[in-house]
Amino acid sequence: MSNATEIDVLIIGAGPAGLSTALHLVQADPSWAGRILLVDKAVHPREKLCGGGITRLGMPLLRGLGVSLKTPYVPVREVRMVYRHLVFAIRDEPVFWVVRRDEFDHHLARTAARRGVPLQEGQAVLDVRPAADGVEVATTAGEYRARVVVAADGSRSTVRQKLDWPGSVRMARLLEVLTPESDHLPEFQQGRAVFDFSPMADGLQGYCWDFPSLVRGQATMNRGVFDSRIRPERRRAGLKEILQERMAARQRRLADYPLKGHPIHLFDPQAVFARPRVLLAGDAAGTDPLLGEGISFALAYGQAAAAEIVHAFAQNDFSFTGYKARLLAHPVLSQLRVRAWLARMAYRFESPGMIGMLWRLAPWMVAALARYNPACVPVQQPRLVRVG
Ligand SMILES: Cc1cc2nc3c(=O)[nH]c(=O)nc-3n(C[C@H](O)[C@H](O)[C@H](O)COP(=O)(O)OP(=O)(O)OC[C@H]3O[C@@H](n4cnc5c(N)ncnc54)[C@H](O)[C@@H]3O)c2cc1C
Repeated sequence: MSNATEIDVLIIGAGPAGLSTALHLVQADPSWAGRILLVDKAVHPREKLCGGGITRLGMPLLRGLGVSLKTPYVPVREVRMVYRHLVFAIRDEPVFWVVRRDEFDHHLARTAARRGVPLQEGQAVLDVRPAADGVEVATTAGEYRARVVVAADGSRSTVRQKLDWPGSVRMARLLEVLTPESDHLPEFQQGRAVFDFSPMADGLQGYCWDFPSLVRGQATMNRGVFDSRIRPERRRAGLKEILQERMAARQRRLADYPLKGHPIHLFDPQAVFARPRVLLAGDAAGTDPLLGEGISFALAYGQAAAAEIVHAFAQNDFSFTGYKARLLAHPVLSQLRVRAWLARMAYRFESPGMIGMLWRLAPWMVAALARYNPACVPVQQPRLVRVG
C-alpha cells in the first residue's frame, strides 16, 4: 500500500451513524474536519429502505448538533398498538416524526459538508486489513491507511466481514411496501400510525406497521412487517403471507406494489463493539430487537464513537477497551439493553391466549415503564387511551 492516502480517521458509511460521528467530531473541534474522511458506496440522495420514524430519543441529538428537520415529514400524534380486537393508543405532540430517509440522510450529509467534513461518495470499501499502527482500507477508488476506522456501514457491514469480527450475528427480517393514498385519510389528517402485533399468533416475533409518509409531496402509506427473530429456536413466520393478508384487509393487492426487504443487525449486550483501531457504530454494531428502531440509536452511536476517538487521540491509546462501557452508559444506547431484554420476554409467547393476556397488561406496562424509565418510552407525557 505504498500509494495509500494517510488519514487519521476513516468513517465508512454516510448514514446517520457515520454522519453523526463526523458531525460530533467537528463539533468537538472544527479542526477534525481536516483529519477525517467519510466514504460511502452510494451517492446522496440515496435510497434507504426504512419506515423513517424518528422518535424523541433522536431529537435531542439532532438539536445538540444544531440540525433541524428541514426535510418534509409527517408528525405522528397517535400510535395505535393493536393485538386483534384489543387496541390502545399512545398520544403525544407528536409521538414521532416520519421522514423519507433519502431526504433526511441527504440533509445530514449536506450539513456535514457545510461544516467542512470531506465526503467521498460512490466509493465502496472492498477490503479492510489491520496493519502496524493503523488499518489499511481498499476501496473502488483507491487505498487508505487510517489510524482509526469507524465501521458505520450498516447491517451487512463489509468491515465486520473483512475483519472476521468475533461473535455471531443475529438479523431481524423486514419487508416494506409504499402505497400512494389520499391525504384525506385519518392517518394523514390526524397523524395516526399503527403497530399491529396480531401476527404474533402466527409466529411473528414483531409487528406490522402503517406509517403515514410523504414521498415527493404525495401522501403515501409506508407499510411493512418486522420479524425480530430474537428467539431463533422458534419457527419462522411467513412474512410475505402476513403482509399479503394485511394488505388484502385494506383492499390492496401486495402484487401491485414493489416489495422490498432488508435485514437489521440486532444489538446484543454480549457482543464485541471494538477492536484496536476499529469502532463499530449504528447498525454495524447492532440495534433495537424490540421494534427495529435504528435512526435515533445510530445518531447516538455517532456521539459515543466521536467521544471515544477524541479520547483515544488525546491519550495516544487506540485499544478502545473503554468503548463498550461508554456505549452501555450512554443515556440513549443504554435503552438497547432494556429493549433486548423486553424483546426476549415479549416474543417468547406463541399461544394466542397468552399473547392476549399480555396485551391486556400492555397499557399498564407501558405507563409503568414511562414512569420509571422515561427514556424507554420516548413520549413526552404518554397519554394511553383504550380504543374499541
Ligand atoms: C424496512 C426497514 C424499516 C425501518 N424503519 C425504521 C424506522 O421507522 N425508524 C427507525 O428508527 N429505524 C428504522 N429502521 C432501521 C434504520 O433504517 C437503521 O437502523 C438505520 O438506517 C441505521 O443507520 P446506519 O447509519 O447505522 O446505517 P445505514 O443507514 O444502513 O447506512 C450505512 C451506509 O453505509 C454505506 N455502505 C454500506 N456498505 C458500504 C461499503 N462497503 N463501502 C462504503 N459504504 C458502504 C451505505 O451506502 C449506507 O449509506 C428500519 C430498517 C428497515 C430495513
